[in-house]
Amino acid sequence: MKVTLLNCTPDPEKTVSLAAKLCYSDSAIGELEDRVKGISYENFLGKIIKMGHLSVLEHASFTFGIEGISRTTSHQLVRHRLASYSQQSQRYVDLGRANEYVLPPSIESDAGAAKRFNDLIARIHELYKEMVSSGIPREDARYILPNAACTKIIVTMNARELLHFFTLRCCERAQWEIRKMSTEMLRLVKRKAPTIFRDAGPSCVAGPCSEGEMTCGRPKEIRDKFKRL
Ligand SMILES: Cc1cc2nc3c(=O)[nH]c(=O)nc-3n(C[C@H](O)[C@H](O)[C@H](O)COP(=O)(O)OP(=O)(O)OC[C@H]3O[C@@H](n4cnc5c(N)ncnc54)[C@H](O)[C@@H]3O)c2cc1C
Repeated sequence: MKVTLLNCTPDPEKTVSLAAKLCYSDSAIGELEDRVKGISYENFLGKIIKMGHLSVLEHASFTFGIEGISRTTSHQLVRHRLASYSQQSQRYVDLGRANEYVLPPSIESDAGAAKRFNDLIARIHELYKEMVSSGIPREDARYILPNAACTKIIVTMNARELLHFFTLRCCERAQWEIRKMSTEMLRLVKRKAPTIFRDAGPSCVAGPCSEGEMTCGRPKEIRDKFKRL
């Protein structure tokens, strides 16, 4: 899996601060630059976020390139509706050339299961290639491809949606692959906007665990992990 931050709003914390200052100031928009010059984002944005004025975070967007994830994970990812996606097409791209699949660690650690998994994947791949070379359109041959098939996707989310996404998908309740992916996304955006994402991650990072009976029971360990990220 490879996660890259391709682009983001230039100076995201300044942009968000301009939007927040506008709401509480009688300044003309042209004067707002001066109003945010030299302010502590930690104090100002920290306060804005704490009071739940989260719409200002929508002015900062982040675009990620993600490759080497399974279709299982991309399907979970695209359930998040407040985002934009461009995904490599299985209709148009010949997947006979790339034989890339995600092998879950639980299967990898069981030699017998891993062998059967890999054998089956190889047979699926062979059949796919045979069908495409016999003239069956790729868009139909792809019906035999498994959830394990790798995909590439470009995703854009604003900071408010990212905070929500991290709460759900960095949590131990989320599946390991999307958790790994979202944790890497969080690591990357923290470097660009440390105040906005200071308390980002599963609910236990900023407050009590929200998972009730489904809690992993390790809030301190998880909190420390995300604080250090
Ligand atoms: C641990 C876990 C297990 C899951 N298991 C399943 C499962 O078994 N089956 C399944 O189908 N899904 C499952 N999901 C997916 C889940 O139901 C959501 O579809 C997914 O997490 C997207 O979250 P969302 O809807 O909050 O957010 P987004 O689509 O990211 O939207 C963000 C927020 O915007 C608001 N919003 C967006 N669209 C609307 C709308 N149309 N109307 C009103 N408000 C809206 C909501 O407040 C929403 O929380 C699971 C998710 C997790 C994290």
